[in-house]
Amino acid sequence: MYPRFNETDLAGAIEHAASLIEQADALIVAAGAGMGVDSGLPDFRGAEGFWRAYPALREAKMDFYKIASPRAFQESPELAWGFYGHRLSLYRDTVPHAGFELLKRWGDLKVHGLSVFTSNVDGQFQKAGFDPAQVYECHGSIHHLQCLASCKEDVWSADDFLPDVDQDRCWLRNRPPRCPHCGALARPNVLMFSDWAWVEQRSASQADRQEKWLSEVSRPVVIELGAGTAIPSVRHFSHRVIRKFGGRLIRINPGEWEMPTRLDVGLPMGALAGLKAISALFGMDVESSK
Ligand SMILES: [Zn+2]
Repeated sequence: MYPRFNETDLAGAIEHAASLIEQADALIVAAGAGMGVDSGLPDFRGAEGFWRAYPALREAKMDFYKIASPRAFQESPELAWGFYGHRLSLYRDTVPHAGFELLKRWGDLKVHGLSVFTSNVDGQFQKAGFDPAQVYECHGSIHHLQCLASCKEDVWSADDFLPDVDQDRCWLRNRPPRCPHCGALARPNVLMFSDWAWVEQRSASQADRQEKWLSEVSRPVVIELGAGTAIPSVRHFSHRVIRKFGGRLIRINPGEWEMPTRLDVGLPMGALAGLKAISALFGMDVESSK
């Protein structure tokens, strides 16, 4: 589908990416599911990949779209929390890959610093030491909770909840979290499928903060990582920044790396490999950046 890169093209594209980063006065990191893959996190695209990660859900005939829904919490809290509780523990235990540190260092060199737009709910940017005030999580965060019964537009931290999950059965063994206001079941504050009750106030205030920051920069560069076309929120964001704020785009994606204009750069690589290749041109020691 895409023309193939030869080695000379690739070297030229990496140089182009490095020069865009050097010329920018602000760095915007736009991350999709592919960003987590290099930290060892599962990517839920395709039913087979999903069921390999959660075999018990294959038996229950629950694909990602079914389990990631408010209805799953209404019908089977233990199963839904088995899935989300496992992910919550997984994301808490995951060590973000070295690419996060590289981005942070590049951002430190910019007049306006950096800002993150991510569709990932895994909290990996905060875990990697990014200032929470720099992050906009457009689909919410698994590290936060809300009421399943929508009694109040409230969002609170999930830190007090320690899920005990039977992984073979994808089943929560301990008590699920409850709403402190009405006592109903609590659910993760993430935007699910067929979800009309997601409390978006936390993400909305992150969005406002980022929009204000964007209005103050003049030469932003977007480094887009692992964001596919299947759930296009991140790509839409990248394109909007180019149109509205006059930025340029570096799209790092092993499969879907085509770029909107010839002034932008597509790198057919995984997130970590792409970031390392660019950083080699800056003479940064990646091994010590872990
Ligand atoms: Zn409630």
